[in-house]
Formats: sequence, C-alpha cells, structure tokens
Amino acid sequence: AKETGGGRAEYYRLEMDAEREGRNLLEIDLRAAIEQSELHVVYQPVVDAKTWRLVGVEALARWNRKGHGPVSPDIFIPIAESTGLIDQLGIYVLHRACETIAGWPELRLSVNISPGQFRDPAFVAHVGAVFRDTRTDPARITLEMTEGYFIQNPERARAALAKLKRLGVRIALDDFGVGFSSVGYLRQFGFDRMKIDKSMVHAMDDGGRAVDMLQATVALARSLEIPVTAEGVETKSQALALKRSGCDELQGYLFGKPMSAEEINTIYRNDSFP
Ligand code: C2E
Ligand code: CA
Ligand code: CA
Ligand code: CA
Repeated sequence: AKETGGGRAEYYRLEMDAEREGRNLLEIDLRAAIEQSELHVVYQPVVDAKTWRLVGVEALARWNRKGHGPVSPDIFIPIAESTGLIDQLGIYVLHRACETIAGWPELRLSVNISPGQFRDPAFVAHVGAVFRDTRTDPARITLEMTEGYFIQNPERARAALAKLKRLGVRIALDDFGVGFSSVGYLRQFGFDRMKIDKSMVHAMDDGGRAVDMLQATVALARSLEIPVTAEGVETKSQALALKRSGCDELQGYLFGKPMSAEEINTIYRNDSFP
C-alpha cells in the first residue's frame, strides 16, 4: 500500500512538473510572439438590436503558435496577465485595432482591458499615445473591463477610470452575469455601457427565471440610462427576446464570428451581412 501511495504521489509530482514546464514553454513562446508581432487581431461585428446594421466591432486577440497552431485567448490571456506580458499585448491590440478602424469612420471599437494593465503607472499615458499616433477620436473607443478590479480595489479603480475617461473614451462593464457584478457598480464607477455575458444569454433558452432575471437586469441598467449590449447571440429567437428586453446592441455568431479586417470591410462596404 505504501508503495502505491508513493507511486501515486510521484505520478502527481511528475504531472505537475509537466504542467509547469508546458506553461513555461508557453510563456517563452508568447513573449517571442509579442516581440515578433506574431499575434493578430480579429474583429467581431456588433449590430443595432432593432435594425441589425453594423455599428461597431470588438477587437479580440489571436495567437497562432508556431509549430502548434492556434492557442485560445482563455489560455494565453491569463498567462499574459500573470507574467506582466499583458501590458505590451494590450497596447499592441489597441494600436492595431485603432489603425484598422481608421478605414471604417462610422464604426465604434471595443477593446478588452485586463485589470493588471492598471498596475502600470504609465497605462493611461500609453493609451493616450496610441490615440495620438493613430489619429483616433477617443469618443469612438470603448474599453471593456470585468468587475474583479472594482471589487478588489474600489478606490484605485475609481481613480483609474476617471483618468481614462478624461481621455474621452467610454468604459463598459464586461461579462455581466458571470462574477459578482451588480447593477449598482454601473452608477458607482461611472460605466457607460453594460455587456451581458453569453452565459446569461444562453441560459435564457431554458426559459423561466433566467429570462426574468435578464429582463430585470436590463431594465435596471436602462433606468440608469446605461445602454446594454448582449454577447453570444446565436439564434434569432435570442436576438428578438434581447431586443424586447431592452438591449440596444447585439453581438454573436448569428451576426458573425470574430473575423479578419478584410471580412469586416466587405460587410462595411456593402452595409449587409453575407
Ligand atoms: P470576452 O471579452 O467576453 O469576449 C467574447 C468571447 O465570446 C470571445 O471569445 C468571442 O469569440 C466569444 N463569442 C462571441 N460570440 C459568441 C457566440 O455567439 N457564441 C459563443 N459560444 N461564443 C461567442 P474569445 O475570442 O475566445 O476570447 C475569450 C476572452 O479572452 C474574451 O472574452 C476576453 O476576456 C479575453 N480576450 C480576448 N482578447 C483580448 C485582449 O486583447 N485583451 C484582453 N485583456 N483580453 C482579451
Ligand atoms: Ca469583451
Ligand atoms: Ca464574456
Ligand atoms: Ca472577458
């Protein structure tokens, strides 16, 4: 029995080593990928809930790891966050996306910001520099943030947001319905928009309480005059229910997956989805 136990412990130790090793290799490759501009940016359409016309795009990072193929952002973003690479990665995505939207003057752009990026005291200055370099009107830009940072460090978060907003950007509360976000945060921190997470949207399909909850949430946001985008919209019936609940913008596979700038360009020029 003793031997089996030791063997198992040894096995777990090896497995943990392998995992750590894999993560280290991933980190090394990610660092190189960022330095060699191997990351790229894709754009997901955001449409008006009533007309289904394209009103904006969300920029999403992609990494095609050399010799391995695509790595999901759900894997590489947390690595970037825990290693400090997120500062460079985040500014890179913002810069690329701002260059790209110069060709689509009528569209707005959303970019995701990780809480860790605020740790860099020069973050707001870097964001301002991107707008200057790319001649981007900050009023077209929404920075999407999750609630984690606001709960952990409300005072610093409020100060950081105020500084960002002085640049002229909008701020959205991302992933609403996943963590502990409450509608109260919208007012408390001065968010300009709420984004309902896809998990809440998909839960609606089961009917009942999930629908009531979503409707109540959107109604509360609207009573504060804060517009609401729903993400993860995959079916027409979801799109209709979300519009009826008061969401003003929709995003999801029904309208388009994250795609290349060229593909967005075609939609933009034809003013219609393929
Ligand atoms: P997110 O900000 O919540 O982005 C929405 C995610 O939902 C994207 O996943 C998108 O591809 C996916 N999605 C959109 N519509 C649908 C749909 O109809 N059905 C389903 N099943 N999924 C849909 P993605 O691109 O894999 O990104 C995952 C997360 O990684 C993002 O979640 C965001 O938190 C993070 N991320 C991606 N790019 C960046 C970045 O440049 N910076 C930072 N800080 N985070 C990023
Ligand atoms: Ca987002
Ligand atoms: Ca989400
Ligand atoms: Ca997110």
